[in-house]
Amino acid sequence: MADSYVLGWILCSVMALVALCGVVLRRQKWKGISMRTEPLKTVLTSNGECGSADASHADVIIVGAGVAGSALAHTLGKDGRRVQVIERDLSEPDRIVGELLQPGGYLKLIELGLEDCVEEIDAQQVFGYALFKDGKHTQLSYPLEKFHSDVSGRSFHNGRFIQRMREKSASLPNVHLEQGTDTSLLEEKGIIRGVQYKTKDGRELTAFASLTIVCDGCFSNLRRSLCNPKVDIPSSFVGLVLENCHLPYSNHGHVILADPSPILFYPISSTETRCLVDVPGQKVPSIANGEMENYLKTIVAPQVPPEIYDSFVAAVDKGNIRTMPNRSMPAAPHPTPGALLMGDAFNMRHPLTGGGMTVALSDIVVLRDLLRPLHDLNDAPMLCKYLESFYTLRKPVASTINTLAGALYKVFCGSPDQAGKEMRQACFDYLSLGGVFSAGPISLLSGLNPRPLSLVLHFFAVAIYSLGRLLLPFPSPKRIWIGARLISGASGIIFPIIKAEGVRQMFFPATVPAYYRAPPPVK
Ligand SMILES: Cc1cc2nc3c(=O)[nH]c(=O)nc-3n(C[C@H](O)[C@H](O)[C@H](O)COP(=O)(O)OP(=O)(O)OC[C@H]3O[C@@H](n4cnc5c(N)ncnc54)[C@H](O)[C@@H]3O)c2cc1C
Repeated sequence: MADSYVLGWILCSVMALVALCGVVLRRQKWKGISMRTEPLKTVLTSNGECGSADASHADVIIVGAGVAGSALAHTLGKDGRRVQVIERDLSEPDRIVGELLQPGGYLKLIELGLEDCVEEIDAQQVFGYALFKDGKHTQLSYPLEKFHSDVSGRSFHNGRFIQRMREKSASLPNVHLEQGTDTSLLEEKGIIRGVQYKTKDGRELTAFASLTIVCDGCFSNLRRSLCNPKVDIPSSFVGLVLENCHLPYSNHGHVILADPSPILFYPISSTETRCLVDVPGQKVPSIANGEMENYLKTIVAPQVPPEIYDSFVAAVDKGNIRTMPNRSMPAAPHPTPGALLMGDAFNMRHPLTGGGMTVALSDIVVLRDLLRPLHDLNDAPMLCKYLESFYTLRKPVASTINTLAGALYKVFCGSPDQAGKEMRQACFDYLSLGGVFSAGPISLLSGLNPRPLSLVLHFFAVAIYSLGRLLLPFPSPKRIWIGARLISGASGIIFPIIKAEGVRQMFFPATVPAYYRAPPPVK
C-alpha cells in the first residue's frame, strides 16, 4: 500500500514537472528565446560546405529581399546555410533606384555567381559616362581593357533584377523566401535571437535564427538598435522615363552639370532611358499642383542636351513623375551579438555616382568569405567579436565609393560663390584632359580601383589644377583670395566625409586590431 502510494506520488511529480517544463519552454520561446530540442542535421552543398537543417530554426534570417537581401540569401544558401528570408512584398518592385550597376559591382556579381541575373531582363551594357557643361561635353570611358569583353556596367529595371535574384535564391532547397513585414527584433540578454513579423493575412509570427541580417533598405526601421543612424538628405531625385530616346553617347551614363544641380540620363532597357533630376534641399516642387511640371519645363528642359530635349518634354507631358529622397548615412554600427546590418540599412551615399549596389555586393563578398570557415553560427558573442573585422575589411571599396559620391555631388552642384564655380569648372576640365586624369577618377567611381588614397590625390589634384589656372600667369590679390577660399572649400568638402568614414579604417586598415581577427575555433 505504502509502495503504491510512493509510486503514485513519483508519477504525479514527474507528470507535473513535464507539464511545467512545457509551459516554461513555450513561454520562453514566445519571449524570444530559441529552444533547440533536436540536434542539427547537416546539408552538404555543391562546394562541400556544411550547414544546419533543423526544420524549426534557420541559421540565418534575412530581413528584406531587395538587392542586398536577395543576393545575400543566394550566397549564404549556396554555402549550405539554412536561410529564411522575410520580405514585405514579393511582387516585382517598381522603383527609380538601383538601375545602374557599376562594372566593379558587376565583377562582384560574378564572384557571387549571380551574373546571369542581369540576363533576360533587357539590361544594357554601360561603358562609361559622358559629362556635359555649358554646351561642351567629354567622354569618360571605364578602363575595361584588362577585363573580359562581358565586363562593363549594366543598367536595367531594378525590379526585374531583384526578381531574378529572388527566383535564383528561392531555387535553393535550403533557402525559404516568404512574404511578411518584420516588426521587431527579438532580443534576449543583449543577443538578437530572431524576428517578429506579420504575414499578409495579419498573423503575428516569430522566427528564430543564429544570425539575423537586416537588409530592409534606406527606410529601415529595424536598424535603430543596431547602429547610430545619422541620415542626411541633401537632395531628392525626380525620376522620369524617356521613350525611344537616342542618347548622344550610346551605352553611356550622361551627367549634365546643370544649375542648381546635376541631371542624369542612362538607358534602362533597349527602348527606355531613365532621367533623374537632382533637386537640392528636402522639399521638391509639388507634382499634384503642377509646380513640378513647370519646374521641369522651365528650369530643367533648357539645360538638357538638344538631342534629348523633345523626349524629355514628352516624358514630362506624359506624367508618371516619381521622386525619391537622396540619403547618405555613414556606417556607424553597434556590433550586436546575433545581428548584422547590410545594404542601405547599414550605409548610404548620394546616388549621383550609382555606387549603392556595388557597395552592397562588395560587402556580401566580404561577409561570405568571413563566414565560410565557420561550421555553425550559434555562439553569438564569439561570432560578433569575429565579425568586427567586417567593418574594416569592407572599407577600401565602401569608403572610396562613399567619399567620391559625397564629394562629387558637392563639387557638381552649382554655387553662387566664385570659388565653388571655379572648382566645378576645373573638375570638368580636369576630367576632359583624358589619360590618367579621366581614367583615374572613373576607375574609382566604377569600383574598379577601390583605393581611398588615390581618391584623395585626385581630389586635391583638381583643387591645385583649379588654383594654378586662377593664379597663372598673374596672380592678383582678388584671385589669391578666391584661390584660398577654393582650397578651404575643397578641404571643407572632403575632410568631414573622410572623418565620418574613419581615417584609420580608411587609410591604415592594417593598424586596426579587428583586421586580424581569426575565425573562432571549431568546438
Ligand atoms: C534615387 C536613387 C537612385 C539610385 N540609383 C542607383 C544606381 O543607379 N546604382 C546603384 O548602385 N545604386 C543606386 N541607388 C542606391 C541603391 O538603390 C541601394 O544602394 C540599393 O537598392 C540597396 O539595396 P538594399 O537591399 O539595401 O535595399 P532595397 O533594394 O531598397 O531593399 C530593401 C528591401 O527590404 C524590404 N523591406 C523593407 N522593410 C521591410 C520590413 N519591415 N520587413 C520585410 N521587408 C522589408 C523592401 O520591401 C525591399 O524589398 C540609388 C538610390 C536612390 C535613392
